[in-house]
Amino acid sequence: MNQEMTIISAETGGLIGENRTLMKHLINKPLTETLIDAAKNGTPLLKLGKGIPRVILISGLHGNELPPQISLVRLINEIDGLKFRGTIYTIPFAIPKAIMHNTRRFDGYDMNRSAYKPGTVSNDILKLLKSLKIDAVADFHSTQKNSNPGVQSIFCSKKPCYESFKIGKYLSETTSSKIICQEKAGTLFKGALEDEANLAGIPAVTCEVVSNNGWVEKGSPEHSYHQMRKFLDYVGIKIREIL
Ligand SMILES: [Zn+2]
Repeated sequence: MNQEMTIISAETGGLIGENRTLMKHLINKPLTETLIDAAKNGTPLLKLGKGIPRVILISGLHGNELPPQISLVRLINEIDGLKFRGTIYTIPFAIPKAIMHNTRRFDGYDMNRSAYKPGTVSNDILKLLKSLKIDAVADFHSTQKNSNPGVQSIFCSKKPCYESFKIGKYLSETTSSKIICQEKAGTLFKGALEDEANLAGIPAVTCEVVSNNGWVEKGSPEHSYHQMRKFLDYVGIKIREIL
């Protein structure tokens, strides 16, 4: 089996099991338990497969956005042990402590606005993307109705990484998500992991599905899962025997 787990930040550890709403929806498998156990010590990074392309899927950077965490844990369990060409890195529980408390912020800060600040977990993830030579990044979130963006959508940008726009366009068309494209990364707001990755030359998108914060709207994990599968399709990672 080609599976490797590491902890990338020790400050973020938390008890995922205390988030009852999330626990009700997480697929009950040994690997889920392993991830939850590892999250006590920080942010777990799980590597599956090997070779190129090297891609990463992230969820839980906002601890109270539950649907993408549910779908990424499902996807991990499904592809674990299956054959595919390429390396799929996953960070399903980016900030276990915030997930435990079902909150957006971590120690008072929004981690998807802080990726440029050294010492933050999102900056650690950004540095990791560079050191792992990641070819494409997808960061998964959920959004409340009547908030920003409030609709199922894909954030991307054209400069300096045109590839971000190409991924965004494909995901938008194949998953009925609204495309929200900036001409230049980082102009809508500062410090989103996606923007900072694009500015560093690593193509990235942010994928949103609609669900209330701290809650799991019916069907929302399936929508997020669909975005994840289409992202893998786009980068050319074909997984056989998937359920
Ligand atoms: Zn978010």
